[in-house]
Amino acid sequence: MKKKILSILLGSTVGLVVIALIILMPVLMIMNFFGANITDGYIENNSEYADEYIKVANKNIKAKNGYVSLERILYFYLADNTLTFDEIYTDNIDKETKKLIPISEVCSIQKYKVLDVCKAENISSSGQIDEEQAKPFSPPIDFSSSTITSFFMEERVVYGEANVHKAWDIANSEKTPVYATCDGKVESVSFPYSENKIDTNDTQAGNNIKISCEVNDLKYIVFYGHLFPNSSKVKVGDSVSKGQVIAGVGTTGYSTGNHLHYQVYLDGQVIDGMSLVDFNYDLDNSNGDFKPPMLPDNDNFQPSYKN
Ligand SMILES: [Zn+2]
Repeated sequence: MKKKILSILLGSTVGLVVIALIILMPVLMIMNFFGANITDGYIENNSEYADEYIKVANKNIKAKNGYVSLERILYFYLADNTLTFDEIYTDNIDKETKKLIPISEVCSIQKYKVLDVCKAENISSSGQIDEEQAKPFSPPIDFSSSTITSFFMEERVVYGEANVHKAWDIANSEKTPVYATCDGKVESVSFPYSENKIDTNDTQAGNNIKISCEVNDLKYIVFYGHLFPNSSKVKVGDSVSKGQVIAGVGTTGYSTGNHLHYQVYLDGQVIDGMSLVDFNYDLDNSNGDFKPPMLPDNDNFQPSYKN
C-alpha cells in the first residue's frame, strides 16, 4: 500500500511538487523565507527584528519616552521598509501623555498617509490596539539605569534552547531595587536560592515574588523573577502599594546574568506588561523607601542577560 502511494506520487508532477514542498518546508521556515507575520498580536518569525527593536526600545524606555510594541512598528515598517524603527517609534508616541497614538492619527502624517495600511478599512481590520489605553502600572524598576535584554514574545535561544519569551527581561546590577507596579497583595514569596547563582535546572525563574492587584475591575498578577537572595522586603499576605520596593535584582535560577524577569497576567492570561506602564510615573517621589540603584562602572556594563 505504502509502495503504491509512493509510486503514484513519484509518477505525477503534482506528486513530485508535493514531495518537494514537504522536504523544503522546514528548510524555508528555518531560513525565515515566509517573513514576519502578525497573528493575534504576536509576530511570528520576529527574531530577525529583535536586535534592531531592542536597540530602539532601550533608547526610548531608558529616556522614559513611552512604549511602542514591535507589532506596532512592523505595522508601518512592513508597509514601507525605508522608514526606520526609530522614526516609527517616535511618531507613535504622544509626547505629553507618553501613550500610544491611535493608528488613524499616525496615518494623518503625510509619509504614512500614502501607505496601504493607512486606508480606513485596513486600519479597522488590523486588530491593532487603537483605543485610549489605560496605564495603571508604575515601572517595576528604574528604567533609566536599566537595559532591556529581551522583549515580550521575543523568539530567542537561551542555553541552546529555542523559546518564546512571554515576559520582559530588564538587566541591572545586583540588588537594584524592584518595585510593586500596582496597589495589591503579596500572593507568594519563593526564595529557594541563598546564593546569587545561576541554575540551569531551575524551572521557577529563581527567587520570585507574585503580587495580585485589581485595577478598574481587572485582575492582574505581576510576577518578578531571578531576585537576589534574602532581598525580599515583603511576605505572603502583605498589602503593597505602587512604587514600593519589594526586593532586589539577582540572577538566581535559569538565568544568564543579573536581571529582572517581569511578567504580567490578566485573568490568568499572560499579557504585555510594558504596555501597562505609565511612563509619566516618577519612582523618585513614590515613597521614602527609594534608594538609588547600585550601579557598576557604568561604561563597562554591557548586559546581555536573559531568561
Ligand atoms: Zn525572562
